[in-house]
Amino acid sequence: MSIGKNIAKFRKRKKMTQEEFGKTIGVTNQAVSKWESEVSLPDVMLLPKIADKLEVSLDDLYGIHDSHEPVSSVHEEQSPKSGMESLRELYRIGVGPSSSHTMGPEKICRIFYSQHRTADRYKVVLYGSLALTGRGHGTDKAIQKVFGDKAEIVFDTQHQTIEFPNTMDLYAYYGENHQMKRAYSLGGGAISFDTVHPQKSTPYKLTSFYQISEYVKNHNMRIFDYVRECEGEEIFLYLQKVWQQMKAAIKEGTEREGYLQGGLGVERKARFLLKSRHIGETDVIRENRLISVYAFATSEQNADGETIVTAPTCGSCGVVPAVLFFMQQKHHFTDKQICNALATGGIIGNLIKTNASISGAECGCQAEIGSACAMAAAALAELYELDLEQIEYAAEIAIEHHLGLTCDPVKGLVQIPCIERNAVAAMRAINAVSLSNFLATTRNVSFDTIVNTMYETGKDIHHGYRETGINGLAKFYVQNDPNRIDDAIKI
Ligand code: SF4
Repeated sequence: MSIGKNIAKFRKRKKMTQEEFGKTIGVTNQAVSKWESEVSLPDVMLLPKIADKLEVSLDDLYGIHDSHEPVSSVHEEQSPKSGMESLRELYRIGVGPSSSHTMGPEKICRIFYSQHRTADRYKVVLYGSLALTGRGHGTDKAIQKVFGDKAEIVFDTQHQTIEFPNTMDLYAYYGENHQMKRAYSLGGGAISFDTVHPQKSTPYKLTSFYQISEYVKNHNMRIFDYVRECEGEEIFLYLQKVWQQMKAAIKEGTEREGYLQGGLGVERKARFLLKSRHIGETDVIRENRLISVYAFATSEQNADGETIVTAPTCGSCGVVPAVLFFMQQKHHFTDKQICNALATGGIIGNLIKTNASISGAECGCQAEIGSACAMAAAALAELYELDLEQIEYAAEIAIEHHLGLTCDPVKGLVQIPCIERNAVAAMRAINAVSLSNFLATTRNVSFDTIVNTMYETGKDIHHGYRETGINGLAKFYVQNDPNRIDDAIKI
């Protein structure tokens, strides 16, 4: 559906006339009428205000998620699922801090550059959300990583005819001539050239945990065997790469100090935590500190625009590596065992992505951090060779106790509360496995049920708490809050 039609739909839902709505955003009723009848499009600079007044997200305005449809109709529309994508589409290696604003554009630039290596110079024009928020997210830095200073970067906030928020045009100049390509960053690191609706390949035909668990039970296999059966042995070579990059991010993240980019004044803490010791530190406290070190390290690398692996997103990239790295250090699991665990955790992430959402903009932070926690819990249960019931229960617990978690990053940067939240979720994943180890036979809620619940809850979360930077911490956060000191003294 077009932007104009969506404006009409959401305006009517709020029971406002065109005139009433126009007044709230400072335009005439004729202007609103023209948008809604698709004679013209609103100025792109006005879109955040329009979304705010209609209480929807920018994605909703663009019709990306159609998130305000009743949940039942969305499910009916999508059901039955035709399958699930490769784990390569879930675990993506690229630069943070945003899969749509840095990872996708960087990948687009690399492909374009590989086709035009001999060009004299380049130009990249960013539209829509990339133009509006690209500077804050570091889109320009991701582009410069590929082209160096040979590319001119244009943030075109005036262009009114784009149909997709994350659109970019790339130009390669050869003397007087040039070649141009339009590309789209589709979210989650996915990209497409020329069309916003690329064909997806779905190597997994089963799309619920129930179906997959029945299948693996009947074939006397584990979940990672099912991954091998669907994707072939090559997927494990890819997971090796994923694991090497996860470890590299932890290593680099624990070596660096200083302030993160973005101007929020957030200091890196992984190294500080690594060196800190409680007086009389117990084993449990030490373990929690180390798990947090690894989660902070990866999340800080992400926030600084370094290379990480989405698991399942950039904002939640610290949870899975922290749990697996800590366990490898402690129990000396082999890299092969870790890759099997990544495969099992990947199936959990894929099920959530297919049947609900892994997007903070769509369903709040429960969809990002909750999903990462579930993936980490399932991966750890796999490492411990727990049975299917226990794997399912660990993942279910992890989601259940993140239900309703909002997304309210301060200044839209993936720093506060995101980085700390990765550490908390990593510790929680380990607790979920401990519980599932003992209580799996007594559980009452299935993984498939909790995924549906999370999706429906996400749809009910007010749009100001879905990555819009309007409500929550984004609204109330005060840099260098003087009350912080007083509160600390009171405690
Ligand atoms: S608060 Fe939002 S941006 Fe931060 S990790 Fe959660 S979903 Fe991602």
